[in-house]
Amino acid sequence: MKKIFQKPKSLNSVKTHYCPGCGHGIVHRLLAEVIDELKIQDKVIAVAPVGCAVLAYDYWNFDVTEAAHGRCPAVATAIKRLKPKNIVLTYQGDGDLAAIGTAETVHAANRGENITIIFVNNGVYGMTGGQMAPTTLLGQKTATTISGRDKIRDGYPLKISEMLAVLEGVKYIQRCSVHSPVEVIKTKQAIKKALNNQIKGVGFSMVEILSMCPTYTGRSIENSINWIKEKVMQDYPLGILKDES
Ligand code: SF4
Repeated sequence: MKKIFQKPKSLNSVKTHYCPGCGHGIVHRLLAEVIDELKIQDKVIAVAPVGCAVLAYDYWNFDVTEAAHGRCPAVATAIKRLKPKNIVLTYQGDGDLAAIGTAETVHAANRGENITIIFVNNGVYGMTGGQMAPTTLLGQKTATTISGRDKIRDGYPLKISEMLAVLEGVKYIQRCSVHSPVEVIKTKQAIKKALNNQIKGVGFSMVEILSMCPTYTGRSIENSINWIKEKVMQDYPLGILKDES
């Protein structure tokens, strides 16, 4: 009988570098569980980002390579085209995917590359000290918006999933969250569907995951969970934005 808390084979036993209450560890585990369940551990090649998840390769027991900042979708494109039988995914934060890597993201999506993107959106730059990210909410205080993000000065929150959903090359986009057990379960189901799409050759699939950053949203762990529920989900509603799979 399967133990509920059994460590997935695709996850290593190492000490975490993430802050208490960070959502990255949950997403790492979900990905490892799905890879075990799909029995693709020997086929997966992940591309890790620059950002708080830069050390993702330490945690996963499958092949992982590193890309220059924001270039994960371009690197994943090359790997998938050279090794089409492998399952290629990127794991990126909002700085990596929605700021410096916007061009790579948009063009990989528009080409309809048969890759899977795991996009962790915590609304702030974590690794570099809590500066405003493209996904930061209006009014949200960060290290570079000390009185709150202002639409005149800083522009509006960038809704990457909505942007990509209108592209013909995109086959599946779902926005999820890891702020509650129910949403964690839905997130796992979405990751599984996105990887299954690639296995079936459906095409470009992305799962955006709202995630907690207690450290740089300046909140307790409990309040960073409430922040997602009460504020972030108003601007970034959960659900399937596109499904042509
Ligand atoms: S800074 Fe934020 S995103 Fe980075 S590890 Fe800490 S809690 Fe997680």
